[in-house]
Amino acid sequence: MRNAPTILHLDMDAFYASAEQASKPSLRGKAVIVGGLGPRGVVATASYEARVFGVHSAMPMAQARRLAPHAAYLVPRFPFYRAISEQVMGLLRALSPLVEPLSLDEAFVDLEAGGVAWDEESARLTGARLRADIREVTGLTGSVGLAASKMLAKIASEQAKPDGLVLIEPGTERALLGPMPVRTLPGVGPATGDHLRRAGITTVEEIAEAGQDELVRLLGRAHGQALYAMALAHDERPVVAERDAKSVSVEDTYDMDIHDRVRVRAEVQRLADRCVQRLRAAGRSGRTVVLKVRRYDFSTLTRSETLRGPTDDPAVVREAAARLLESVDTTGGVRLLGVGVSGLADFTQEDLFAQARTAVGGAALPEEEPRREVQDEPAEEPAPPAAERRWRAGHDVRHAVHGHGWVQGSGLGRVTVRFETPDSGPGRVRTFRTDDPELEPADPLPLVTRRPGAGALTTQEPG
Ligand SMILES: [Mg+2]
Repeated sequence: MRNAPTILHLDMDAFYASAEQASKPSLRGKAVIVGGLGPRGVVATASYEARVFGVHSAMPMAQARRLAPHAAYLVPRFPFYRAISEQVMGLLRALSPLVEPLSLDEAFVDLEAGGVAWDEESARLTGARLRADIREVTGLTGSVGLAASKMLAKIASEQAKPDGLVLIEPGTERALLGPMPVRTLPGVGPATGDHLRRAGITTVEEIAEAGQDELVRLLGRAHGQALYAMALAHDERPVVAERDAKSVSVEDTYDMDIHDRVRVRAEVQRLADRCVQRLRAAGRSGRTVVLKVRRYDFSTLTRSETLRGPTDDPAVVREAAARLLESVDTTGGVRLLGVGVSGLADFTQEDLFAQARTAVGGAALPEEEPRREVQDEPAEEPAPPAAERRWRAGHDVRHAVHGHGWVQGSGLGRVTVRFETPDSGPGRVRTFRTDDPELEPADPLPLVTRRPGAGALTTQEPG
């Protein structure tokens, strides 16, 4: 591990909700909940004002409505969030070639590789300047964690929230981690957390005290060893610019073709276990299990199965691989077998996601969804009648007379619009017929208006 806190983790504060509040002045300072509004919808992001009521991301929307009945409920506008994300990622890439985005609003940056920080002081300065730049360019706040490893940088940004910066000095990591709950560590989801608790282990210090052998006994070799190392604050994972590892796979070629079906099954199970070991070592989980079979005549088949949620559970991968094998005829003999997992995600976040899916039995909407999997239209939204489809709650509109606004609600042939813009005060509400020819859908306005001459940031505040 490096000895300077030059790995930076940025996490925008309540990103979707903050973007909506910045875009809609009447919602500032109010409880705002963004997510799927259908019967099986899930909270994607709750504003800090909504969190006071106990609402949090991945919670079923019905529960959120009971806790915060007076909050503003909005569907996500991913193209809008993505545009802001591009601005933020641009600022990060100006710091270093090694930027590893985890989602629209979260990324690791290797400051040392960019030559912008080499010690505690330069790292702190760079982090502070970045936060100021993000605020200036996007109008939103982000929290920054700085540490000598990815794990601790992420823990630091969590502690910095909202709107702060925390730097973990090298050498203080173990003392800091010790009293924290086991769930703080990457790779400890609800299931692993429960498992450890039943063994009397609730804090990171207790993992360290239990020792590696006990951890391996409880969680298996790969997971146990990895977790023990994390508890000792050992984390050597590099910041990788492109998340090019889209899959993890292992395969074996056999000197002699395998004919025995029982042996083929056993080999597939073994490969599945090895594959999961690699997956966990990389701190990832995946959704699609792939089986590869090369037969005696060199014909190669691949079969895949996509799970309901990402997994790093060896039993789940073994079962999926076994099911896939059932559809492959191996009677002539097999010369190569492989098992892979693709559709990878970082597993701390996805663990939460998977749990939410199970809880509501359907399409969950994770906070800070990985870029590649972002959907613009959550599938669970019931399709409104054609006349009202143009007027989706929360979306921007323009009226020929009243100007720019957003849809507060629609139904029964009427649409209610609040006329306000990011740099206006809270606006007035007016109601129109849904077929009003003077009303049309509009693109979101930029959150920060760049006035000519406003570029010089060092000028004094007016007055
Ligand atoms: Mg965030």
